Amino acid sequence: AIMVAGSVGALSEIWGELQRASGATERLVELLGSDDTVADPAAGAELPQGGRGPISFDNVHFHYPSRPETAALEGVSFTIQPGETVALVGPSGAGKSTVFQLLLRFYDPESGRITLDGTGLPEMARHTFREAMALVPQDPVIFAASARDNIRFGRLDATDAEVEAAARAAAAHEFISALPKGYDTYVGERGMMLSGGQKQRIAIARAILRDAPILLLDEATSALDAESERAVQEAVTRMSETRTTLIVAHRLATVKQADRILVFEDGRIVAEGTHDSLVAEGGLYARLARLQFTSGLAAE
Ligand code: ATP
Repeated sequence: AIMVAGSVGALSEIWGELQRASGATERLVELLGSDDTVADPAAGAELPQGGRGPISFDNVHFHYPSRPETAALEGVSFTIQPGETVALVGPSGAGKSTVFQLLLRFYDPESGRITLDGTGLPEMARHTFREAMALVPQDPVIFAASARDNIRFGRLDATDAEVEAAARAAAAHEFISALPKGYDTYVGERGMMLSGGQKQRIAIARAILRDAPILLLDEATSALDAESERAVQEAVTRMSETRTTLIVAHRLATVKQADRILVFEDGRIVAEGTHDSLVAEGGLYARLARLQFTSGLAAE
């Protein structure tokens, strides 16, 4: 799971949450006059293809500052082509979420290079590439606000019609309409409690509103009810058709739909391929697939 990122104590937690929810971090960072753990160039290169080019990790090594004794990533290299859907799988602690943390540049690697559209992340102002990414976290933040405003947080100037269209695309419209006051129903703290699957659909709706070319999805590990699971699956499939998509995947159904699977173990990529080719190889992936991923990962 993506843990709290940043180095400013209590505030970093709020930041991490907001970043995950909407990419509003930059605004908040400006308000607070603070910074993440890395230097952000005031002005920098533009994204040559607006984030519609390849994403590449080249021999990336990284330790979290608070855990210098453990390598989170040890020589990770991959290239994701525009429009591709890639699933990151592997046991808990293997380094999957760390890939997202580095892509959002909460941290810089000790060595190696991360590029988007062929441009190194440190060469761009952070907002430049963060705006190209929408993150759907494992446990999305639901604010004490109406369902409508919770979705609108993805893009603050979205109209009600746009919010509703995003909710429909995220398979959230039906359950929201069934709430006591529909889109005006207060959710979150002191409001209606939403299930894990409903929260993820709100987060997907936010991501749809953001309309970023890159989708980063940290799939829920907790069990979703069957209806939520199917709905989330469909929304993600539809959304990934027109975007470059990275999914930290915990479900076999998700993994099977990916164009390509990267198998992580102990901070390295130990195998790569499609579901069928990896099952045929018979390694860690085949074991995880036999255990249907979710239960398998829980058992690690
Ligand atoms: P999971 O499936 O449980 O989410 P993961 O494959 O995403 O696992 P990561 O979260 O990337 O694994 O973790 C890689 C390593 O880095 C692990 O050893 C983990 O304990 C450590 N780690 C992750 N986040 C932090 C953090 N914020 N601070 C310190 N260490 C961390």
